[in-house]
Amino acid sequence: MPLLEVEGLRTYYFTRAGPVRAVDGVSFFVEKGEVFGLAGESGCGKTTAGLSILRLLPPYGRIVGGRIVFDGVDLLSIREPEFRRKYRWKRISMIFQGAMNALNPVFRVGDQIAEAIMLHEKVSKEEAMDKVRELFKKVGIEPSRVDNYPHEFSGGMRQRAMIAMALACNPELVIADEPTTALDVVIQGQILDLLRKLKDEYDLSVILITHDMSVIAELCNRVGIMYAGKLVECADVRTIFKEPSHPYTQGLISAIPSLTGPKVRLKSIPGAPPDLLNPPRGCRFHPRCPYAVDKCRREEPEYVRVGKLHWVACHLVA
Ligand code: SF4
Repeated sequence: MPLLEVEGLRTYYFTRAGPVRAVDGVSFFVEKGEVFGLAGESGCGKTTAGLSILRLLPPYGRIVGGRIVFDGVDLLSIREPEFRRKYRWKRISMIFQGAMNALNPVFRVGDQIAEAIMLHEKVSKEEAMDKVRELFKKVGIEPSRVDNYPHEFSGGMRQRAMIAMALACNPELVIADEPTTALDVVIQGQILDLLRKLKDEYDLSVILITHDMSVIAELCNRVGIMYAGKLVECADVRTIFKEPSHPYTQGLISAIPSLTGPKVRLKSIPGAPPDLLNPPRGCRFHPRCPYAVDKCRREEPEYVRVGKLHWVACHLVA
């Protein structure tokens, strides 16, 4: 049984203009010890899917359908106090996008992590701080820096502190939302190495949310490609990079710059993602798809299994 199963998840943001269908019928699973990537352009719904699992949506966001089953338990049937006590941060945690915004600037970094520990474990402040120092060592921060404020940390150190915070209660599943965005490539490489090392050491399952396909290639076992609130293709990483089936995935892969070979103009997918207040009928990718036929404008494609762990939602792959 997978550690996490998401089935037909639908999460909408209710605005004055109407519901924004940010996640609209998304299904995937995560095995124990696996890194599952959720990739796609900004605004495709990948962060909303992650926030839905932890039930951390803003007040105007609501899960309107589907199931989220973690270790055999339907998380959406659990009341908030129980979810907060037993699941959020204790068994499922998150590395939030933008470490500077996620850390409170007016509290010491060590205190913020200790607070998360004390909320879930019956330990004294001193014991919690000892654990924070231990975590700092694990993520490569000098333990004496627990008394620093976030502004005294570099961008890479703040990201490491966020990783320490996510590991504070020994969770089984970590949702890492764009963990390397806004870092330079050297620090990005160090953070990816750190995540890989900690994943093995803590036997973690990870959902890695990113728009960066090179990060997916570095760290993931399988990947789901999202477009306009839908999962359009899901496969192991090798298949996604070598034999992508969905035209959108093909576009994403061909947009990756090559460091070798002749200098050519970077490819991009023409057009822009649709407005999710009013998504197009049929296949949501049809306005940008070079292979679109009439059926694509009328009917939404079903998932088709094209390999052992390979699903695609495209009429041409049926
Ligand atoms: Fe393109 Fe049609 Fe496939 Fe959508 S269903 S990706 S529009 S070919």
